Amino acid sequence: MSATKRTIGPEVILSAIGAEQAAIEQLLIDLVGAPTVLGQEQPGQEIMRAAFADLGLEPRAVPLDPQALGSHPGAAPFSWDVSGKANVVCRWGPDEPRGGRSLILNGHIDVVSPEPSDMWSSPPFVARRDGEWLYGRGAGDMKAGLAAIVGAVRGLRRLGVEPRAAVDLQSVVEEECSGNGAVQCVIDGRRADAVIVTEPTSLAIWNSQVGVLWFQVVVRGRPAHAGSAPAGRNAIEPSLGLIAALRALETELNEEPPAPYDSYEHPINLNVGIIRGGDWPSTVAAECVLHCRLAHYPGTPVESLRTRVEDTIAAAAAELEGFEIHVRYDGFACDGYTLDPESPLVAELGAACERATGARPELYASTATTDARTFQLFGESPAVCLGPHAEAVHGIDERVLLPSVLQTAQALALFIQEWCGLDG
Ligand SMILES: [Zn+2]
Repeated sequence: MSATKRTIGPEVILSAIGAEQAAIEQLLIDLVGAPTVLGQEQPGQEIMRAAFADLGLEPRAVPLDPQALGSHPGAAPFSWDVSGKANVVCRWGPDEPRGGRSLILNGHIDVVSPEPSDMWSSPPFVARRDGEWLYGRGAGDMKAGLAAIVGAVRGLRRLGVEPRAAVDLQSVVEEECSGNGAVQCVIDGRRADAVIVTEPTSLAIWNSQVGVLWFQVVVRGRPAHAGSAPAGRNAIEPSLGLIAALRALETELNEEPPAPYDSYEHPINLNVGIIRGGDWPSTVAAECVLHCRLAHYPGTPVESLRTRVEDTIAAAAAELEGFEIHVRYDGFACDGYTLDPESPLVAELGAACERATGARPELYASTATTDARTFQLFGESPAVCLGPHAEAVHGIDERVLLPSVLQTAQALALFIQEWCGLDG
């Protein structure tokens, strides 16, 4: 391929990506069909590997390495087995830039459980199309984003062009539990002048996000026969008081939020996502474990949130007699971040998106975390999220609006031309 810079009219790029619509939708349907919940990501990664290879690129596995993760400041603690888990990455364009700026396009293959799946209108891992909507677990969060990345590159490659700096495509694991897939990509040495994570942002640019901590509160009492229950200490019952104490901490955290969250009613959310206690109706429950998620503002280290959680639990535990109570950590432990809204990435992606949709994208500070933080905080790479419009993510009948998937691909393709430059 010649190394002559080429500028293609935006309308040519828009229609080249438009021609990929069927391919984008088919990839999305195939991805939804792979039930990539935690520990079962590989069949989804095989589909991504084939999709990258089909672009004429060389997919490469980046396996999770527990040892390397264990000593990385951006990694989260985890108790589960990660053997056999790998990100799939590939590079389009030159290793050494020829005058353009490099880019990482990133998405996660893992999805959360669809249970109780009998609440869905149709099976969650069978993509169902209804008008402009496509239903299925992961359709929005975020297999549509992965399909849009592939569609953008596919359309540009069909135009016979190549970027003037590396465009790295990444399909990562473990975004929903630890973020360690993206951390492994950073450990692997991936850096870029910009990172776009195609989470379902409704074509807004997320340039700020909270940090998140997962923690477990372990309550141990004393088992006894229910017929002589007063001899035991039931671990389930004080757990409710501990939740109330954590809710009070949540209320405190929501008082006077700092910018960019100062206009938000309730930016910091505590979620008690799992409660496991007891093992027999006629036995006083000896143990109860609460699995919680709590957010914190950019600029406050996650270590300080750990301290506040532990202090809260210690104060509540001091009121209780006959129980052993402690806090342990497994999964997310990350900081938030804000990327300057004046940064070139925000401005140029905003312009590309406006050309694709006709509207200037809004800037949004997310009350959830994403892998974007890892590139920004540990990869020396400015990062944002931008992706399609989805509803009921992590909920029942999750769905994505198909035209917004195409618009995402179009915005990415236009941005690649502006950011990286094209040769051809
Ligand atoms: Zn997501």
